[in-house]
Amino acid sequence: MDLDTSIAYLKGVGPNRAKVFESKGLFTVEDLLYTMPFRYEDRSNLKPISQLAPGETATLVGEVRSAGSFGSRSSRARIFEVRVRDASGATMAAKWFRGDYLQRIFEPGQVVALYGKIEWNRYENGVEILHPEYEILSADDEQAALHLGRITPIYRAVGKINTRALRGLIGRALETAAFPEDPLPEAIRRRMALPERARALWDAHFPPEGTDLRLLAACRTPAQFRLIMEEFFFLECGLALKRRKARAAPGIAFELNDRARDRIKRILPFKPTNAQKRALGEIAQDMAKPTPMNRLLQGDVGSGKTIVAVQAAVIALESGYQVALMAPTEILAQQHYYNLRKLLEPAGYVVAGLTGSFAKSAKTKLKRLIASGLAHVVVGTHALISKDVDFHKLGLIVIDEQHRFGVLQRLELLRKGLHPDVLVMTATPIPRTLSLTLYGELDVSVIDELPPGRTPIVTRARDYDHVERVYSFVAQQVGEGRQAYVVCPLVEESESKTAKAATETWRQLSEEVFPELKVGLLHGRMTPSDKEAAMESFQSGETQVLVSTTVVEVGVDVPNASVMVIEHAENFGLAQLHQLRGRVGRGAAQSYCILLTGGAGEAARERIAAMERTQDGFEIADIDLQLRGPGEFFGVKQSGLPEFRVANLVRDREALEIARNEATAFVETPPSREELEKLVSYIRDRWQRRYGLVQVG
Ligand code: ADP
Ligand code: MG
Repeated sequence: MDLDTSIAYLKGVGPNRAKVFESKGLFTVEDLLYTMPFRYEDRSNLKPISQLAPGETATLVGEVRSAGSFGSRSSRARIFEVRVRDASGATMAAKWFRGDYLQRIFEPGQVVALYGKIEWNRYENGVEILHPEYEILSADDEQAALHLGRITPIYRAVGKINTRALRGLIGRALETAAFPEDPLPEAIRRRMALPERARALWDAHFPPEGTDLRLLAACRTPAQFRLIMEEFFFLECGLALKRRKARAAPGIAFELNDRARDRIKRILPFKPTNAQKRALGEIAQDMAKPTPMNRLLQGDVGSGKTIVAVQAAVIALESGYQVALMAPTEILAQQHYYNLRKLLEPAGYVVAGLTGSFAKSAKTKLKRLIASGLAHVVVGTHALISKDVDFHKLGLIVIDEQHRFGVLQRLELLRKGLHPDVLVMTATPIPRTLSLTLYGELDVSVIDELPPGRTPIVTRARDYDHVERVYSFVAQQVGEGRQAYVVCPLVEESESKTAKAATETWRQLSEEVFPELKVGLLHGRMTPSDKEAAMESFQSGETQVLVSTTVVEVGVDVPNASVMVIEHAENFGLAQLHQLRGRVGRGAAQSYCILLTGGAGEAARERIAAMERTQDGFEIADIDLQLRGPGEFFGVKQSGLPEFRVANLVRDREALEIARNEATAFVETPPSREELEKLVSYIRDRWQRRYGLVQVG
């Protein structure tokens, strides 16, 4: 039996259990061995009952003396009670309210392990354990040494296969499986003093005597750390191989001559920040190389990514190539279109906007312009690549991203063009751990500085008791010549209900609250031309208060707007709140973000507190990641984020950095050709599909 053997052949598994495992994505012995405990219990140094103190969490192992239900003294619920006698001879009660279902599980004579909080029972004047986790152990188990008298791993049940069964199976697999050579290169193992794989798996499941329980709980024993490193190392190697492969592909070497430099300077309406200069420098260097650029441009909301992208566009244009800019939403595409026209048309470039509001015939005409090369820059939504748009000579694609643009679409893009250079801009900052995994095959530039003259935005949470004062503040700001947004939340994820709610808010604000002001409305259900008109009216300053859904979330840029009111802010995610706030504070005037809340839960309060505390997008992204966990960070249908078996992106961020450095060094300067080939084939066989690493080698 080796690691690839089907789990069904493991003694004790059988066809039924094999099916359960399979339904949870566990097929081989290796899959089973990488199913890690979620905690450990120290069953080697058990305290006798007499030493257990109320308030502590403890493990109790002993024999069931009696088990049964009875009515409670203090409430009407029935209580199930099990009395357990431990090795010291003392007995203690374990109790479950409404525990009648446990009748079928406990019976006198069993050996059980209980884990839970010790409480004081003042009626009985003694300690008891309430609602403990339990594990029935049989006294004559041939694997008893796995379950008792040691630091014992506790697993989440896999279907109906409970922790004890899993422990037994994993113990057996460790004993019987033949391990092939450790795939983690020896040089790395040695340098980092990591245990060999079989040893690490043994020790992570069945920690040797004396292992520090705190290290175990933090997932930081050498064994656990080795398994985390292994996962990150192979992922990062895969990504490094992809980067290397991309760099080896043929691409365009754009010419960066004095004329281009001069043009880039001249289109700039302002002095770039140092961070913008640095980012452009990195981009220009990539573009000048004869290999395709694959670069991620990260920067906080309002840090000025657009202008950097426009400068990159000029480099491509000056070399005689076309540029495509893709935005995640129609509104944003529209806005980029206006922006780019303003910046590029005076320099003699033709900018085409391929957005939804055109009639079909106009679109056909536009497409002809694009195909013939008469349109130099094309701005549109992501439909630009999936639809039948042909370019004459596409050289650069700029993707203004919203986390939604998956790896596959990027590939599609490459298939279409002539290996154009690709610049991806993130709409919101992403914690570094996530960008290293999700965008790990891209090189990264960061704009970590805001343009000068920005006054920090004042952010305040207010509940609906004070809504009148909030609105009169809005009126006062408008009176001073400013503009305001009022954002309404999503209603039950339904766009039509959301649109209706926004329309209702708009009616109320325009008729009752601000009858003397010009109040506009913008939501996703409006026709493209109505949306355009609404945006234009706000942009020109005619509309003073814009009632909107989250369609204004990304990219909308109206510097005169200085107030952002977010209705029912408790219903928004942190990244979204930050994005929305980023719509103000774009001019010289003091800006305000007011979070109106009605009854926020714990998590919502933490989000709102974070908003009041900081304005740093990277910090907010980190808090968001910690509050939600990596899986939820990109929303439920996150694209392409690998699922780790041992590692955790929140807990193990340093490990990821280390693994990335090791992996990059290994791929770029491998100890030998054979070692590199071994690695490539190992990743191709084992990790490629799981991590969506298409074509690493
Ligand atoms: P984001 O990074 O969020 O896409 P934008 O590119 O929309 O940010 O820029 C935000 C605002 O800052 C825009 O109004 C833009 O014109 C302005 N801006 C960008 N860079 C500078 C700069 N160096 N100096 C002054 N204003 C700038
Ligand atoms: Mg932008």
